[in-house]
Formats: sequence, C-alpha cells, structure tokens
Amino acid sequence: MLRLYDTYTRELREFRPLKPPEVGLYTCGPTVYDYAHIGNLRTYIMEDILVRVLRFNGYKVKRVMNITDVGHLVSDADTGEDKMEKGARRTGKSAWEIAEFYTEVFKEDLRRLNIIEPDIWCRATDHIPEQIEVIKRIEEKGYTYRTSDGIYFDTSRLSDYGYIARLDVEGLQAGARVDMAEKRNDTDFALWKFSPPDQKRQMEWDSPWGKGFPGWHIECSAMSAKYLGPFFDIHCGGEDHIPVHHPNEIAQTQACYGTRLANFWMHYYFLQLDEAKMSKSAGDFLRMQTFLDRGYDPLAYRFFCLSAHYRSKLNFTGEGLDGAATALNRLRLAAYEWGAPGTLDEGYMDKFAEQINDDLNMPRALAVTWDLVKSDLPPATKKATLVEFDKILGLRLADWKPTEESAPDDVVALVEQRQLARKEKRWKDADTLRDQILAAGYEVKDTPQGPKVERRKASV
Ligand code: AMP
Ligand code: ZN
Repeated sequence: MLRLYDTYTRELREFRPLKPPEVGLYTCGPTVYDYAHIGNLRTYIMEDILVRVLRFNGYKVKRVMNITDVGHLVSDADTGEDKMEKGARRTGKSAWEIAEFYTEVFKEDLRRLNIIEPDIWCRATDHIPEQIEVIKRIEEKGYTYRTSDGIYFDTSRLSDYGYIARLDVEGLQAGARVDMAEKRNDTDFALWKFSPPDQKRQMEWDSPWGKGFPGWHIECSAMSAKYLGPFFDIHCGGEDHIPVHHPNEIAQTQACYGTRLANFWMHYYFLQLDEAKMSKSAGDFLRMQTFLDRGYDPLAYRFFCLSAHYRSKLNFTGEGLDGAATALNRLRLAAYEWGAPGTLDEGYMDKFAEQINDDLNMPRALAVTWDLVKSDLPPATKKATLVEFDKILGLRLADWKPTEESAPDDVVALVEQRQLARKEKRWKDADTLRDQILAAGYEVKDTPQGPKVERRKASV
C-alpha cells in the first residue's frame, strides 16, 4: 500500500489512482528566465522519486510539466515586470530566445540528475488559445471583473478560496491596503493582463478583452485540463506554491469545472543555503554548472537530496555534498565489486518497499540500502537487490565502472602512458605523467585491479 501526504486534506492518505493503472501527474515547471538553482533541482529530484515509486507500484504514470515562459511577474501579487521581459533586458536577447535557451539548459540539468523526462512538456506560450478559453468560461460563470490593467478573478465569490493553504482570507483582507490598486480583494489575481498602453511588449496576444498576456496561474489550469482532464491524480510543486499559486489554480479550475483539480496535492520543502531561502531573483545562486566546475558528479547532489525527507527543509553545505559524494562512491564501488547480479533478496526488497511506500521515506530507504551493503548475503544477491533499489534511487549503480570511463579522453591517454612507463620502469616519466593527470584535475590510484582514476575534489 502506498501512502502519500496530501496538503489539501493535511493527511497521509492511501494512494489509489482514479483510473487504474493510469496516474495523471502534473508538476509545476520552471520559469525559464534564468538557470535553475539547486533548490529548484531538489524539487525536481524528489518529484522524480515520486514517479519512480508510482511505477514501482505498477502504475502507468503520465507526467506533464509546464514551462512558464510568460506571465510570471516579479511579484507573486501580480505586480511588477514580467520575469521573461526583465530577463531579456538583462541579457540583451529577446524574451523568446532566453526562454528557448534556459529551457534547453534545464532539460540538460534533468538529464544529468538522471531524472526521467516528463511525458509531456507544455509551454505557456504554445497554449494561449486554451488559456483564453478557460478565462472566457470563468467569465461566463461570473467570477471575473475588469480593472484598468486586466481581467481579475474575484476570490470572494468562492466560499472556500485558499482552503489548501488554510488561508485566513478575512484577516488578509483586513490587513490589505496600499498595493491593492483596483483589486476588490487582497487575494484576487490577474487572469489576463493588458499590455501597458505606452509600451510594446515582446510577448503579447489579442484577446476578447484587449491585447495583453495571460496571468501566471491560468496556464496550469488550462494545460492540466487539456492533457490530464479537469480532475486528475496528483499535483506537485514546491512549498512556496501553497499560499498563492496553488490556491489560484484551484480557484480557476473550481470556477470552470467545479473540481479541486487534483486528488492529491504534494509539496516539496525548500533547500536552504546557510538557513537562508534560496531564490533565483536574489541574483547569486548555485546551479548545476557550479557542481560541474568544481568536479562534482551531479549524482552526488541527487544522493545528497535523498538523505532528507521531502517534507523537511534541507540545508545545503559543501561538507554535506562531500559526504554524499563519498557515500555514493562507496556504494558504486561495492556494487561494482559484487560483480554480476544473481537473484534478488525478497526480505530486503520488502523492507525497502515499505519505506518508499511510506510517503517516499528516502532517508530510511537509504538506511535499508546500507544494511544490505553490510549484510552477509552473497555478492550476486546483493547486486541484484541493489540494482532493483536503484530503479528508485536513480544513481546509475548498475553499470558504473571505476576506471578511466569517468575521465575525459586526454586524461585516459595520460593514464595509459603512465601505465606503460611504469611497466618499462621509467619511473621519472611515470611521475611526470602523474603530475600532468593531477593538473588536469584527476587523481590516479593504483589498486590490485589496475589504476583507478578519480576526479580531484574542490569544495563548493
Ligand atoms: P520557478 O522556476 O521559480 O517557477 O520554480 C520552479 C520550482 O522550484 C517550483 O516548484 C518551486 O516551488 C521550486 N522551488 C523554488 N525555490 C526552491 C528551493 N529553494 N528549494 C526547493 N524548491 C524550490
Ligand atoms: Zn502551476
């Protein structure tokens, strides 16, 4: 039995698909005005664990991820500049170009982290007519009003607006003042924004209400309904989506189709840097390239994320990442040395399954993994069991080899030359080559199985 924590009901609930064996899963995707930071990547890694656990339970997952390439304003309160247009100004490229560029880098980040690619990618700008249709429906049902800068959703029309966040709507309303502009309620939000009269936007479209662009939330209601229907199994996102984005998605879908969008709502807690919130808009941030530049395997970061439950915040430190890299290498080496897989051990498999099915408890699943490593089972059994665990862990343990493979060709060539020099007892040459390997950022270790090459570590 798989149990998942549902933010909507604030309960651990048994998961059953609405239409077994299919599972419809919508995961709020990136806003592509900049690189993803490692906090964003934590959320995507943990969502990948969810996908793998669902598959493990025999379900056929249809995962949809949106790409926000328009409408996400600098403030979640629908004020300020569009992040895309701002990104365009910062880089001197067009909003379309930067969306394309950061989307590709994002997909590459996911590949490096061994994240299974979503079945459907959908870009907000490819779904403008669908979004206009949903807004029209919300309007027909009487939930909208017009201000001088757009069409807004009147949240006071829903008796349970903000339920998912247990929002105190009346309290918010009483405290609201200055930046309400023409909004009727503090929690009202834009469905469609008009292009400013004095400015030509790079991204704008005609609509029944005037030239402009969709609000940030409407894309998720429109695209999830298109690909998964108006009520599907699971909707995911980071914890920051609990108070604003997800209540608004639910309000739109409720007004339009009368459903609360998804049967389960799952939220992933933030990665923090020295206890501070990490955010792209704060400028300086760690991203995938930071790891690569410093010689870390991206999967060490994946391992690091598995060490904490998705419903607790995780503090990022260089020592933490070093620890994860070392542990990952221990696991890889053990798996390699066990040789070919035999038959898996059902007892360990059950223990592992129990943990992953208990609201994706990866720290405890890792503990079972270490118990397996330390057990006195035959190596072939351990290997087969670990390979099965790795279908969830996603650490590419099955085919890892501790040799030159992890080093680039020029380093491998140096290692081979050094081997030859040693064989021919040209010790000075061998030492020189060793220094060259070090200078290239690698370290060669002589083991009974032959030379092993590892990246030298620098701290983050
Ligand atoms: P964004 O690109 O800002 O729209 O965010 C993409 C995803 O990353 C969303 O699901 C966010 O909730 C999530 N997210 C943002 N910051 C963090 C963080 N520090 N840790 C974990 N997830 C985050
Ligand atoms: Zn969303």
